[in-house]
Amino acid sequence: MYAEEVAVMAGRIRDEDIALVRERTSIADVISEVVTLKSAGGGNLKGLCPFHDEKSPSFNVSPARNVFYCFGCGVGGDAIKFLMDAEHLGFIESVESLAARAGIQLRYVEDDRSTPRARPQQGQRQRLVAAHAAAVEFYRAQLTTAGARPAREFLARRGFDRAAAERYGCGFAPDGWDLLTRHLRQQGFSHDELVTGGLSRPARSGSLIDRFRRRLMWPIRDITGDVIGFGARKLFDDDDGPKYLNTPETPIYKKSHVLYGIDQAKREIAKQGKVVVVEGYTDVMACHLADVPTAVATCGTAFGGDHISVLRRVLFDSDERAGEIIFTFDGDAAGQKAALRAFEDDQRFVGRTFIAVSPDNMDPCDLRLAKGDLAVRDLVARREPLVDFALRHVINRFDLDTVDGRVEAMRRAAPLVAKIKDREKRPEYVRKLAGDLGMEIEPVQRAVLTAGNGQPANGRPAPTRPGPATPAVDSPRSMVEREALKLALQEPVLAGPMFDAVEAADYQHPVHAAVRVAVAEAGGAAGATGGAVWIERVRDACADLAAQALVGELAVEPLRIDGEPDPRYVSVTMARLQWSSVTGRIRDLKSKIQRVNPVSNKDEYFALFGELLSLEQHARALREQAAGGL
Ligand SMILES: [Zn+2]
Repeated sequence: MYAEEVAVMAGRIRDEDIALVRERTSIADVISEVVTLKSAGGGNLKGLCPFHDEKSPSFNVSPARNVFYCFGCGVGGDAIKFLMDAEHLGFIESVESLAARAGIQLRYVEDDRSTPRARPQQGQRQRLVAAHAAAVEFYRAQLTTAGARPAREFLARRGFDRAAAERYGCGFAPDGWDLLTRHLRQQGFSHDELVTGGLSRPARSGSLIDRFRRRLMWPIRDITGDVIGFGARKLFDDDDGPKYLNTPETPIYKKSHVLYGIDQAKREIAKQGKVVVVEGYTDVMACHLADVPTAVATCGTAFGGDHISVLRRVLFDSDERAGEIIFTFDGDAAGQKAALRAFEDDQRFVGRTFIAVSPDNMDPCDLRLAKGDLAVRDLVARREPLVDFALRHVINRFDLDTVDGRVEAMRRAAPLVAKIKDREKRPEYVRKLAGDLGMEIEPVQRAVLTAGNGQPANGRPAPTRPGPATPAVDSPRSMVEREALKLALQEPVLAGPMFDAVEAADYQHPVHAAVRVAVAEAGGAAGATGGAVWIERVRDACADLAAQALVGELAVEPLRIDGEPDPRYVSVTMARLQWSSVTGRIRDLKSKIQRVNPVSNKDEYFALFGELLSLEQHARALREQAAGGL
């Protein structure tokens, strides 16, 4: 489809100009505007793919070959193709955009059958961006007029001087019905372009009027710095519109993606690996001026999934390098609700999410005014993990002096702990929650476990199988290995001797094997009496974090048996585990025997054959044991 489009469009922009655009464009520069890129070795770069959601970077850029390619979703091409896909541009618009960056004057050729045009047909996006650029200049010039005094006073009252207003392109929409509309029409923008771009709207009479009037204006830029919309603050008491008015949804302004300040903040966000999410235009300005250059804000909408996708790519938020996301919300009820909602979104970040609440419930702009730049930096530095904030908020609603209050608080708080995506942190939070509630660990553990059942584990949909729900497992073999480890951790008195008799080598999954080794290091399951002390001992014996996390998980995951486990259940589980391991060894052995020549290497052949026979015998015995002696 792409090649076809090139063929069709090439009749409109001269081929040699398109070639020049390709030659003069650095694909790494173009892509870096949207995606933070790191070295991938061999002169190549990598980042998080903008075309699919991922946690490890599989999006590759080769500056030498001037192409990009994603191993995750298969999207690839040159810089023209990248802009087409990333910004939903047509071929011609994409070439125009790159030509403008590279300072290339494009020449257009008329195709034989079309009528000559007065001016080159620019793409829609280019036209709308140009109209917005003209509108920014218009509003800026208006800010110095007598009528704009309330706008200048508003900025001054919030601690923004003229330089700050200039840096953010602040302006004023004057008192008049169609001043901007007429200005832009004179510059050659069409009726349709002004309506489509959200700058003007049709009045009842049919003529066009300005969308924004008598308001302080903030231009809203996309990540590459193009102005795509405006935020407008009410200034006059007799203005009966909302306090803030934004550009409506247009082909270039999608409020679910837009982050105010991202164009200025993106380099620092990438460099520091953190982003501060604030609530308004003035908060972004206050933070940047107070030397918190990583601040951004949503524009007239709640922080959502698309904003997360944009930020993750700038943060390079991946398994290799987790980013830090700091939300600043008002401490009041609305802010707390927003924080809890953000906690739901938290799961979409690999990195850690924090909340920074000013003790006096002041937003960053008020805080800077009242206490200066240092107080703003301090607010961000005093951030608290979002989950701690959310838990405290939930618990505080209940009277912990009563049993009912404690139980209800536990019931409400448990789902939050069950949602912590960092599995290795869950046991820690179970302990903390139990401490905060003044309860034993076990009931809290159970409540968290119950709350966690039936919800996706590792982002995968929960398995739909009858009986008690358990986190997804990869294979029957992995399942039986987990079950064996659960028995050792939860029922060491019952399972100890049989569990200890099976070696770590019989566990296929490396993390499972590591936990098996840790159980031995902790003195073996046979000698253990169980309980939190035993779990703790095994955790401490783990060689790495992954194994530690798994111990925490398996210590609370229910066994796959209805009712109490008995010796037969242990025997069956251990036999199934060994049977998997033995059949694997049989398979390897058979393949090896096939490669040995029975004539020239007779001795080796018969040794292997003997080994095979004894393994097969062992496997038969294990299969009987696995069937429970039935
Ligand atoms: Zn991809």
